[in-house]
Amino acid sequence: MPQTLIIAPNWIGDAVMSEPLVKEIRQTGASISILATPWVAPVYRAMNGITEIIEADFSHGKLELAQRWALARQIQHKHFDNALILPNSWKSVLIPWLAKIPARYAYKGELRSLFLNKALPNPPKIDRPPMVEHYLALAKLIGSASSPKLEMSRPLLHVDENQLKAAKDLLATFPNPDQVYILAPGAEFGPAKQWPSEHFAKLAELILNDSSMTNVVFMGSHKDKMIAQKITQQIPQRYQERVFNLCGKTSLDQSIALISKAKALASNDSGMMHIGAAFNIPQVAFYGSSDPHHTPPLSPFAGILFLGLDCSPCHQRKCPLGHLNCLRQITPESALTELNQRIYQLKVI
Ligand code: SF4
Repeated sequence: MPQTLIIAPNWIGDAVMSEPLVKEIRQTGASISILATPWVAPVYRAMNGITEIIEADFSHGKLELAQRWALARQIQHKHFDNALILPNSWKSVLIPWLAKIPARYAYKGELRSLFLNKALPNPPKIDRPPMVEHYLALAKLIGSASSPKLEMSRPLLHVDENQLKAAKDLLATFPNPDQVYILAPGAEFGPAKQWPSEHFAKLAELILNDSSMTNVVFMGSHKDKMIAQKITQQIPQRYQERVFNLCGKTSLDQSIALISKAKALASNDSGMMHIGAAFNIPQVAFYGSSDPHHTPPLSPFAGILFLGLDCSPCHQRKCPLGHLNCLRQITPESALTELNQRIYQLKVI
């Protein structure tokens, strides 16, 4: 059985979008190992058919050659036949090259063709293809003969029974465990991807006002704690007993399990959004500076709110025009309407 090592991307959303590639390689009969940072490794723990996840953490922007050498030596003993490198950086190709993996495949990326046996041309900077399709194209390099259609290639995640039980136990501490709306106000890339906090607060208020049964749970990493706190402070006192801020309090493994049991999810274009889509959770996603055609939530129960302003998508971390109208002009009322439509859609199917 051939053995493939996949070097995982560094963003949670990108990791989710690599699931169809994993599925495709599995169908070739290869065993699959993943080299991932501890940050994205939980996403791969939620995928089927992965033999091993090797976790390694390198500081951003540093070469750390000695550590890479040490890890490459360990990997060399595993005798991989080929490696697929998903990140674009030249550093990401070092470990499979140092580990002497005989076939190393990737996109050309950053000046690294010399380290690769075969490289696909980089995608265009504008009108980039959907990320899932971008990753799937790599499967051909290691012998996948099928041509999966994008609409048939949705990322899907799974939660093991222990994690599911832990998530249910946590949800049971909320007033109505089956009425949990998750709001994920963070976006690791930067503020130009973040719907304004006052809009999240108003949406929370609308959800809480809609029914006395609903709970609103804010989820994200420790970096999102402050923004979630700022949002919860704007929600009227009478709703506070049904508002919970879990940002920074749950691991990504726990967050994945919790999202899988949510009634609905509202988020920016972020890792949380892709996780929700991979569980068919009714959701609304806010797009402004990023391109919904490149990284859409691939779920029939996902609604996208994108205004398509002349300046959008600009792909900037901070709004260069200083007004963030691409997101500011998406109203909380339209978000609730979209969310309710997606919830209804799930009910009638
Ligand atoms: S320049 Fe336009 S698309 Fe970019 S962040 Fe500002 S408002 Fe949004």
